[in-house]
Amino acid sequence: SKAHFGLIGLGVMGENLVLNAERNGFSSVVYNRTYAKTEEFLKGLGSDKAIQGAKDLQDFVDKLERPRRILMMIKAGSAIDAVIEQISPYLQEGDLLIDGGNSEFRDTERRVAELESKSFGYIGMGVSGGAKGALEGPSMMPGGTKTSYEAIESLVCKMAAQVEDGPCVTYIGPGGSGHFVKTVHNGIEYGIEQILAEAYDLMKRVGGMTGTQMADVLAQWNATEELSSYLVEITEVCLRTKDPDDGSDLVEKIMDQAGQKGTGLWTVVSALELGASVPTIYASLNGRVMSSMKPQRITAEQILHGSAIKPFDLGSSADGMAPLMDAVVLSCMASYAQGMELLRIASAEYNYNLHLPSIAQIWKGGCIIRSRLLKRIQDAFNADPQLSNLLIDPWFAEQVNRRLPGLAKVVAGAAEAGIPVPCFSSTLDYINSYRTARLPQNLVQAMRDCFGSHTYQRVDKEGTFHTEWLD
Ligand code: NDP
Repeated sequence: SKAHFGLIGLGVMGENLVLNAERNGFSSVVYNRTYAKTEEFLKGLGSDKAIQGAKDLQDFVDKLERPRRILMMIKAGSAIDAVIEQISPYLQEGDLLIDGGNSEFRDTERRVAELESKSFGYIGMGVSGGAKGALEGPSMMPGGTKTSYEAIESLVCKMAAQVEDGPCVTYIGPGGSGHFVKTVHNGIEYGIEQILAEAYDLMKRVGGMTGTQMADVLAQWNATEELSSYLVEITEVCLRTKDPDDGSDLVEKIMDQAGQKGTGLWTVVSALELGASVPTIYASLNGRVMSSMKPQRITAEQILHGSAIKPFDLGSSADGMAPLMDAVVLSCMASYAQGMELLRIASAEYNYNLHLPSIAQIWKGGCIIRSRLLKRIQDAFNADPQLSNLLIDPWFAEQVNRRLPGLAKVVAGAAEAGIPVPCFSSTLDYINSYRTARLPQNLVQAMRDCFGSHTYQRVDKEGTFHTEWLD
């Protein structure tokens, strides 16, 4: 009999996703450009399962029941266009082709538009959760036409992580919206990773703490409603792990250069284009850019001295490093707030009609940014679907008001000590700007009118004004 599900691309994600589908009762057929990998998989992880291999695409489509449900899990970019071109001639009315990779959302937008004239459906689906999530249940963000989604709904609902209020997958919206939401998810992820790295740097360099001591603090944080999350959990593990060669903290042996594949950049570019304010996320992206300038930083350290490291109060491990925790909590909340605001603005601009509570819901399990906070985020957008910024929701506002002094103290201390805390300081400026009813941009307007006759509005009179400033 024919297989229920087809997978193209036996990378780490593809392998695990097909095992997941098979475990959930969907017999599968796999195809990989390099056939040796297919053979290897079928002899190894894929053996003794309802999974068969296909040598070429003709064989692949012949082995699938109709309408065919085919997931491409391959390198983003031109590889996707190449595979679409190769497989299109074999697809028939009603078949569904899904791109589960980290494609740029505009590429997906273009592909959906191009392929809509063909008879088969095309879905751009963000997948989060890494290898383990792919196997055990990821969070999935499918976008495209609603009818195409309906044809894969039973499959993805079974494969996804399950949380108390359902599977971590839902129809996101039209066109490239699924990949857009995945991009913003990754932007938030960049933010939280950098925030935890800043906390580590302060505990190490100001607090003089060992990996194990820091891991103990992360364990305390992970037990709180505000910080309980996958990323805090794995940070504890990373800090606790020793180098088997000499028993020292392994993390200290790792080169301080962080890689990136594009999603953080696309989040920030989209935010700039749409006029959304995402300084915490931008700071995390720039943190990676700076980190990659290792040779320059080594030179500059000899030339630019700044101040010597001065100890300041980070709190004690007995109280969970209270001020530092304030800084981490508010910066994580700011990352989510900025990501959700970007989604809200993009939804209006691109007619995505995104349902923000559902997006928070599908991020609660399986994905890299899963956290207990997402329940609060879901509640906040359920209570007010038009909420302009998460931080003014009553529960979040109370957190901001209570924790802002701690964040300020940490940023001030880090500034005096000459230790970079780009996410903490950007978050502080973000919150302080957002909560300031009158900002100094009146003076910017005066300058613009002075040099370029750009005119200005007044606070005390209606109308448009211009002054001959230099007369
Ligand atoms: P890779 O990104 O390493 O992709 C490997 C697969 O792509 C292989 O099957 C390879 O085939 C295939 N491939 C590459 N170029 C072509 C081409 N021109 N034509 C046909 N096939 C091609 O694997 P991953 O599993 O890491 O990622 C797959 C996708 O999922 C990527 O878009 C990635 O960004 C995304 N993703 C990855 C996550 C992760 O944690 N790794 C998490 C979430 C999403 P061959 O064996 O012949 O080289």
